[in-house]
Amino acid sequence: MVPEDMTPQERLRAYRLKRRAEQSRQPSDTSTAGSHERLPMFVVQRHDARNLHFDMRLEIDGVLVSWAVPKGPSLNPSDKRLAHRTEDHPMEYLDFEGRIDEGYGSGTVIVWDIGRYENLTEIGGRPVAAAEALALGHIKVELHGRKLTGAFALTHTRMGGDEANWMLVKVDAAAADRRRRPAATQEESVLTGRTDSDLEPH
Ligand code: MN
Repeated sequence: MVPEDMTPQERLRAYRLKRRAEQSRQPSDTSTAGSHERLPMFVVQRHDARNLHFDMRLEIDGVLVSWAVPKGPSLNPSDKRLAHRTEDHPMEYLDFEGRIDEGYGSGTVIVWDIGRYENLTEIGGRPVAAAEALALGHIKVELHGRKLTGAFALTHTRMGGDEANWMLVKVDAAAADRRRRPAATQEESVLTGRTDSDLEPH
């Protein structure tokens, strides 16, 4: 599902992000340990399809593991947001913005937030790799985005008997408070400043 309507500029940007993501997976040397450049990427795409939703994607082992979040992420820890696991996407999709004209998901997509993340998942004090955390049904991440900062947890709830249902919750309050606004009301792309209506045909 590589988007075909990206401009050469968009392709180049995606390529650079992908290269950086690949470099981030190479063993780190101590001089740059802790640098955000070494961390995997996340993206939240605002997808104005038949039903508006936010696609949250985490780079895990070279793919974008994805959830559709109907109400979008919230910075308020008391908001429990349904997150419906969807198919993994290729890294090329990381900074895709544009129109999808046909079929499932047709509508507009903007990069609502993008940045690096840290996997904070632990079990009994033992750090758990992201892929394992995913398989176990609970992953805790610290997002270093522009709209989203701080720790979030995704938990496999299977709510309503649906195997795809997870829950997205903001874990700590402190990191987010400075910039707190109802997150989903910030509609613009963090890459281009565009909103979905800018992508509609004129
Ligand atoms: Mn979507």
